[in-house]
Amino acid sequence: MTTIFKGARVFDGERFLDGPHDVIFDGTTITQVAPAGAVQLDDAVVVDAGGKTVTPGFIDSHIHSTFSGASLLEAVMKPFSYQFFEAMRNLRDDLALGITTARDAGGGDAGLKQAIAEGIIAGPRLKISVNIMSQTGGHNDGFCPSGVDTAIAHPGKPSGVADGPDGCRKKARELFRAGADQIKICTTGGVLSPADSPEHSQFTVAEIQAIVEEAEAHGSYVLAHAQGTAGIKNALRGGVRSIEHGIFLDDEAIQLMLDKGAYLVPTLIAPLWVIRLAEAGRPIPQIMVDKSRRVADVHRNAFARAAAAGVKVAMGTDTGVGPHGTNLEELWLMYDGGLTLEGTLKATTATAAELVAPNEKLGRIAAGYTADVVLLDYDLTAGEQLKDLPSHVAAVYQGGKQVI
Ligand SMILES: [Zn+2]
Repeated sequence: MTTIFKGARVFDGERFLDGPHDVIFDGTTITQVAPAGAVQLDDAVVVDAGGKTVTPGFIDSHIHSTFSGASLLEAVMKPFSYQFFEAMRNLRDDLALGITTARDAGGGDAGLKQAIAEGIIAGPRLKISVNIMSQTGGHNDGFCPSGVDTAIAHPGKPSGVADGPDGCRKKARELFRAGADQIKICTTGGVLSPADSPEHSQFTVAEIQAIVEEAEAHGSYVLAHAQGTAGIKNALRGGVRSIEHGIFLDDEAIQLMLDKGAYLVPTLIAPLWVIRLAEAGRPIPQIMVDKSRRVADVHRNAFARAAAAGVKVAMGTDTGVGPHGTNLEELWLMYDGGLTLEGTLKATTATAAELVAPNEKLGRIAAGYTADVVLLDYDLTAGEQLKDLPSHVAAVYQGGKQVI
């Protein structure tokens, strides 16, 4: 079946095309993008897109499918399998925003990915990390001051804690065995961990190198939760492909990112959600709220400097900390933090695709690319319009099939 979007304003993944265009797709693939009216087709499904905007399907480079809020207490009081039913709702809510691909940065397992790929449940096509690698006592060690371990491993999600280059290498192998598309590590502490701070470095460069080497042997790469300055630099020197959060980026770290061609996945919305949830009365430990407040401004400032320096930015939200279905607020924050409208959309489409699915034809409106397409019911011409972007998502196509 051939579908034609007629007369749309088109953002192709890099820039807005001049004048209205028709976008044509056949089956799962975009076959043609041409100036409006240039192509005549019989027997096509016609979608009148005059006055509307067509973009590639959005890509969120950092979600947690099975997380539903930052409250540890709420999470540990849920029955074990409930997380998977919540994930069904979460992923459907993300897809409804036009997010047709997402990288799960920890939590989502191979079963979830397969259920989406086979159409059993609706959601963004997933690139999974399975679990998050962390040193003993690090950001993803679930051991709490009480002695309770809240990081519940299961057959689909082996524990992510490892130490020493050999231990780290073995752990990466276990995660690949469990179906990981890429390996997520923590090279610093964080906001939502009891025993550390964002400034603390975790894993040595030798440990990081061992994991990167293992990932590359597997045809894959490593993303690093990295907030403090020293841990960010260790991650980059160890060879990671993307820095997640990047809160305390100094000039040297920014230069290192440029030299290494690393991506920044800012997740500007994440600390804001921790504060919002606490203010709404959800049970979040005060120490975590305090850390969020402390980093929010520094984070915005670091992002602005990195963006101005030309670091490659891929949109990511850490959704799961905040509620799924709110991810697109990140676009407004990136624009407000210094990206242009086109830069913001590129971070959310072509650049994110380059990061999370480098060998797949995703993230662009161009012939030969997968027909992941978002139709916005407004003429998107100014960055200020990103503020109410979610309410303008009129239709979503994933692999040529209308899903919203
Ligand atoms: Zn995260």
